[in-house]
Amino acid sequence: MEATTPEDLTWFVEAAKLLEPALMEGQIQQFAHMRALLLDWNERINLTTIAEPQTVLSKHILDSLSCLLALDEANSHTSQRLLDIGSGAGFPGLVLAIARPDWQVVSLEATAKKVRFQELIIETLGLSNATTVYGRAEVLAHEAGWRGSFSIVTARAVAPLPTLLEWCQPFSRIGGLTIAPKKGNLADELAQGERAANVLGGAVPEIIPLPNELTAKVPDLADERVIIRVKQVAPAPPRYPRSGATPVKSPLGR
Ligand code: SAM
Repeated sequence: MEATTPEDLTWFVEAAKLLEPALMEGQIQQFAHMRALLLDWNERINLTTIAEPQTVLSKHILDSLSCLLALDEANSHTSQRLLDIGSGAGFPGLVLAIARPDWQVVSLEATAKKVRFQELIIETLGLSNATTVYGRAEVLAHEAGWRGSFSIVTARAVAPLPTLLEWCQPFSRIGGLTIAPKKGNLADELAQGERAANVLGGAVPEIIPLPNELTAKVPDLADERVIIRVKQVAPAPPRYPRSGATPVKSPLGR
């Protein structure tokens, strides 16, 4: 029988530790386990188009960890309550729950099969700090216990910036951060996003580039990726987010 060579994950471990230096071997194993479950389930139900073993590590797991670059002094060393909106197969929410076991992570997703997959991840990996919820941001943002009650709100690949901010910012407490990994030419999105952030009680969006040390080590991430960060300076006006498809069809800030 042909022997299989164990995969060399050194590049991944080194890159992950650039983003979260405190990572332990057990957490690296959890990332590898999450990848194995994703690749397996993706053969039966369509969860993601990024389905090569190496690119799941780079474009899903490391890209999710890059949200940690947006932490500021106030929240980098303390326990956080994080909401990830439109988390799909668990990105970035469940990756961040693995990386920061002292955080409480709520992973919100509007597609039932993806929520079921996330439940499997949470149960199999024993992520006692994570829960997944089936629902929509524009509904839950108006409910007590949700609105204004998270210190970090993330969303990746969910919508252009103005729509994404309308769905995210109402969940943020004052001083909290909305964090959105983005890539490509963002000029138009940013101009409109800046006006939307202001309407929603946020400061001017900041752009955080990925460090050269990371993109040199992981060429998959050297495709104009940045992290957008918006600090919440006032409560979002009660009428936001607007219901249904309005935030998509008539985005704020136009
Ligand atoms: N964030 C994941 C990632 O980066 O791999 C998934 C991205 S996927 C392209 C967008 C996801 O957002 C979909 O799974 C969709 O069901 C979810 N979604 C879109 N609008 C939403 C909303 N208003 N509330 C909750 N989930 C939403």
